[in-house]
Amino acid sequence: MSFILFFLACNAPDSISNGDDHPVYSPVHPVIIIGGGASGISTAIRLLELDIEPLILEKESVLGGAGIHAGRFFAVNTPWQIDQGIIDSPTTAITEWEDFTGSVPDDQVEHFITESASILEWITSYDISFSSVQPDIGAGSVPRLHALSPDTPHPLALWSELLSPYAKHNQTVTALEKQENVFIVTTENNVYYADNVVIATGGFARNETIVSESLPEIDNYNWHMEAWFGMVGDAIPWLTELSVPLQNMKHIGLYAHGVTDVNLGTPEIMVIPALERSLILNQDGERPFNEQYTQSLRSGQFMLEHQRLFAIFDQPLWEGTFFQGMGYNYTTPPILTSTQYAEVTGLTAYPELRDLAQDLNLDVNTTLNTVSTYNTGIQQGSDALGKDISRLPPLQTPPFYAVELQLSTGKSFGGATVNQMGETIIEGLYTVGESAGFLGTPQVGWGFSGSITACYYLGKQTAEQIAETYSE
Ligand SMILES: Cc1cc2nc3c(=O)[nH]c(=O)nc-3n(C[C@H](O)[C@H](O)[C@H](O)COP(=O)(O)OP(=O)(O)OC[C@H]3O[C@@H](n4cnc5c(N)ncnc54)[C@H](O)[C@@H]3O)c2cc1C
Repeated sequence: MSFILFFLACNAPDSISNGDDHPVYSPVHPVIIIGGGASGISTAIRLLELDIEPLILEKESVLGGAGIHAGRFFAVNTPWQIDQGIIDSPTTAITEWEDFTGSVPDDQVEHFITESASILEWITSYDISFSSVQPDIGAGSVPRLHALSPDTPHPLALWSELLSPYAKHNQTVTALEKQENVFIVTTENNVYYADNVVIATGGFARNETIVSESLPEIDNYNWHMEAWFGMVGDAIPWLTELSVPLQNMKHIGLYAHGVTDVNLGTPEIMVIPALERSLILNQDGERPFNEQYTQSLRSGQFMLEHQRLFAIFDQPLWEGTFFQGMGYNYTTPPILTSTQYAEVTGLTAYPELRDLAQDLNLDVNTTLNTVSTYNTGIQQGSDALGKDISRLPPLQTPPFYAVELQLSTGKSFGGATVNQMGETIIEGLYTVGESAGFLGTPQVGWGFSGSITACYYLGKQTAEQIAETYSE
């Protein structure tokens, strides 16, 4: 009811009666895109390529969303892999998908994997380049993460400029409904009409209520947020109101690779880039997983299984470790050396591992055994959990340090159920990016590294579907 009243209050400027009680909606845009981040911009630029003029309604004063921070793209069987001598194929990635996401691939996933290389080639058709392909345990067995070159603009920055005539900033959409085949999009200060609407408002990793309702066990943790401040899930109530089915809401991309930001406090996070060089123990003093997983979304799943996790360092490892604030929280993100971090937080330096274990209430004997087994593995050149220990020294030089890791919500892989062209059950209503759980299918599991490619992919697919529908 409150929505209807609000709508009537804002409706006056463009909707008039034609005398027989039917409102006349004017002007009706071919496509309104709600949200000008990664997936919204990709949809818009592809629509322009196909000669359809979109209208982007963006909450912020600039386009880009979280996507402007994302520089590592998942893709399979690309020219850049071939240049680096990496042998890959869609079949290999499809076979491995369950290992690194926890879900069996379906047709939507398979189509994305097969098309991923063409998405990167589309981006580079705008004179943007990728500089390297990097391995990441959250993207399978071969390097698949393509890093944008620092020497060319970010694609979203370049495309934002091209799209500026088609974007309205500072337009927070508050409601969406469909009447007589016209979508009515209400913002805080205006009402717009469209034949088609693309929801591209991003995920909900920063919405405490939706996260807690979707994954109640997360409230057993002092959980933090590692998502851009706009990721508050504005579209979830609209989709619910419109009876568009949601799925996969429990599948929130969780990390366990950071600590509370020492400047900003909870729930903001600082990440520890060198964490995979540490030894991670649970409260029982066991080493529950290969520490290389801490850079992937799998780390959060491990934390859900093991509750508290402690990263252990000896003096040489500690000296090489640093703590970094998140880019979206600062103009220049601070980097703290481990010494500075220890000073600010009053972290204890333990002369013996036994003291560390006792102080943190870890099982002392198991802790000592675990460290000893790990060190023997390093000396013998093989790790029981498959970690690449080739350049690691044994963990043996006092003093020892322990950092308790914090669970953080990085992305959300739940959202509107859509097909591989972004279509919802409502004709003319599309959802892309994190608001569609990236691929619109539950088969993304706990997520994968470099999922930003899926935002560009679904945006492009959706634009092509809209163009095809228009030409009929
Ligand atoms: C620091 C950082 C680094 C990252 N690095 C990577 C990476 O290297 N690789 C990777 O795969 N992922 C990365 N990510 C995640 C990635 O950026 C997101 O998954 C991706 O941007 C999601 O795209 P999207 O289009 O769904 O949402 P966004 O890009 O966030 O866009 C959503 C847009 O919708 C707007 N909006 C929201 N609500 C409304 C409303 N009511 N009305 C109007 N507009 C609205 C927002 O303001 C925003 O502009 C990173 C994220 C961050 C924060």
